[in-house]
Amino acid sequence: MRSIGLMGGTFDPIHHAHLIVAEEVRSVLGLTEMVFIPAGEPPHKAGRHTAPARHRLAMVELALLSNPHFTISRIELDRPGPSYLVDTLRLLHEQWGPEIELSFVIGWDSLEDFPGWYQPEGILRQLTRLIAVRRPGYVDDAEYNQRMEARLPGLLQKLCIVPVPQLDISSTDLRQRVAEKRPITYQVPEAVEHYIQTNQLYQHPTAEIERYR
Ligand code: ATP
Ligand code: MG
Repeated sequence: MRSIGLMGGTFDPIHHAHLIVAEEVRSVLGLTEMVFIPAGEPPHKAGRHTAPARHRLAMVELALLSNPHFTISRIELDRPGPSYLVDTLRLLHEQWGPEIELSFVIGWDSLEDFPGWYQPEGILRQLTRLIAVRRPGYVDDAEYNQRMEARLPGLLQKLCIVPVPQLDISSTDLRQRVAEKRPITYQVPEAVEHYIQTNQLYQHPTAEIERYR
């Protein structure tokens, strides 16, 4: 039975925390593969302009090259309009069969927002597990689980928290660093850093929006 981990994200750009989280979850849960799904037009990031999909995808491709268990799905990139996870999961089940086990990895920041996502119950129904990973700066206390369950009944039944090395790396900070000419070395794979330089990504955050339109 194929048991697949899904790592959704804007990957603007992909960084080492994404890769470490994906590999740790894959190994702890014994998943056969980890599929990265770069977001097309992320609904929760509407209004914020991301780097063009072709650049985000190219960086994910470079970052995944060395891991045979990592693959990429273009499913959200090839679909016009906003991509909702509930639709993506339905399409993946159509593609891979209804019996396939899907585990979606979600960072603690996104988990907080999860009950507000489009059709969260539909998402949970299609998942075998929702894998939460902690992220520096986001606390969970004893009442956290009860609060989450109150917001979205059925969540705890599917929720599985996997401990991962804590790395305070974010794409937002990386974009800021590039714009301010501060280093991103060791926070992203070398090939990704090189790609950002060569294509002059994130140099001028505001001008970038105009240039990419
Ligand atoms: P941005 O700052 O643009 O939101 P990001 O660093 O949060 O970028 P995303 O592409 O938004 O990266 O994240 C994809 C997934 O990876 C999300 O589930 C997010 O919570 C998780 N993630 C990102 N960075 C980390 C990290 N440092 N530790 C654990 N999980 C992370
Ligand atoms: Mg994020």
